[in-house]
Amino acid sequence: MTKPAEILVVDDEMGIREGCKRALSRLGYAVDLAEDGAVGFRKVQEKQYDLILMDLMMPGIGGLDLIKKVHDIDPEIIIVVITGYATIETAVEATKRGAYDYLPKPFAPETLAVLVKRGLEKRELRLEAQRLHHERDQRLLELAGEKSRLRTIIGCMADGVLVTNLERQLVLWNAAAVKMLRLSGTDEPGRPLSHYVKAPSINEALQNVLSSKDAGLAMISQEIRLEDPELVLMAQMAPVRDEAGTLLGAVTVLRDITKLKEIEKIKSQFVSMVAHELRSPLAAIEGWLDVVLSGAAGDDERKKEAWLERAKERAHSLLALVNDLLEISKIEAGKVALKMESVQVADIIRKLVDFLKPEADRKALSFTIQMPEALPTVQADVQDMEKLFTNLISNAIKYNVDKGSVTIEATVDAQYVGFHVRDTGIGMAPEHLPRIFDDFFRIEDKRTSKISGTGLGLTIAKKIVDSHFGHLEVKSRPDQGSTFSVYLPYQKRTK
Ligand code: ADP
Repeated sequence: MTKPAEILVVDDEMGIREGCKRALSRLGYAVDLAEDGAVGFRKVQEKQYDLILMDLMMPGIGGLDLIKKVHDIDPEIIIVVITGYATIETAVEATKRGAYDYLPKPFAPETLAVLVKRGLEKRELRLEAQRLHHERDQRLLELAGEKSRLRTIIGCMADGVLVTNLERQLVLWNAAAVKMLRLSGTDEPGRPLSHYVKAPSINEALQNVLSSKDAGLAMISQEIRLEDPELVLMAQMAPVRDEAGTLLGAVTVLRDITKLKEIEKIKSQFVSMVAHELRSPLAAIEGWLDVVLSGAAGDDERKKEAWLERAKERAHSLLALVNDLLEISKIEAGKVALKMESVQVADIIRKLVDFLKPEADRKALSFTIQMPEALPTVQADVQDMEKLFTNLISNAIKYNVDKGSVTIEATVDAQYVGFHVRDTGIGMAPEHLPRIFDDFFRIEDKRTSKISGTGLGLTIAKKIVDSHFGHLEVKSRPDQGSTFSVYLPYQKRTK
């Protein structure tokens, strides 16, 4: 059962009050009475009424004031003004101020009933309108929230997002797209996509998506090269449809793959360089073995032996090359897994010098080591340090002259321990210095032609120093010698 409508009758005439109560109670309404404006107002404060019948001419709070006070509490309460003939103008004034209708005295119970019924219907309508209004506001709020959430999500994406309509006009973009395509901040969306993105391929792809008759077309992916800014982008385009499947436009997601492409290129260059470097020793080995097998040496065993010896030499250098390549890939792969420990690099160097001494003796080289006893330790991977200094010291021996010298010194400054491998060898011309750390780079001249090498020793050395946050420097002068300096950071001891 629905709750009966709540009605309040405010009138200082008891006859009217009681009459109204009787007539309305009979119709099933809940009726309260108030003998003046103040009591009436208090009741409105305490209880929610649907309709108020009020006399305009009351002592204390008059009807006109009461209308305002009541509507301040609930603007949807229906107010019906009861008034005598003499105050018809006031009744009009009351209607203007928000009273729903007026009932001239005297009135018949039927008139009252009709008016109250109409008033209550009006109240229902008003409440319904209010509810709808509230619902709409709520939905709008939700929608706005949804929209701003979506915008935030799209805005935070690292990929560029471009949304275009059927006319291929740009209707939405995100910050990543603006940055990627260097669209100027003042450029607003709204113009055709071709205005913003000067890449015919992207516009063609968009045209394909928008003109496709295939309702099942989900997405097309395409690599796009831009000239200004110079970028390689992976564009993924998908049609945007409404619930009924009608095409509304297209969304394009752009991923910057410029760096990836660059790495791919370097990788494939490296692979072809490796293949090239492996080919010449292999071809030479095959060549020497061929001549031996062809029987060209006849019974001359010494000749055969000499040719096999050459094949062996090349096989040896091939092995060195493969070992260096493995070394490089190990460094690359193990960058994150270095076994760092406190290391006294000077001790490692001393051991290496003992080990490499026989090689130096063949050239009658003199070795000098000038390293203070108490050098700071550095955080380093022992095996890496061994490889690094083996490469530098071997070079100092290999590219030295007979009876030359190799000096190894150490220095300490505020942040770095420096190890300097100096030789009095053939040195290098300044134009070669910028390239000596490149993969496979070797200086080819008559002084180096007899010296075997892979061109990877310094590449490895540089990678090791970099992975230890240090730096590698070289000073060299032709015919005077070279100095390679390794600087490794150390932690000062706090006493
Ligand atoms: P390689 O296996 O050829 O020695 P590296 O990467 O160690 O390869 O060195 C690259 C090139 O740099 C060498 O081929 C050589 O020409 C030059 N080089 C390296 N160290 C020295 C040095 N101490 N003195 C003169 N030239 C050197």
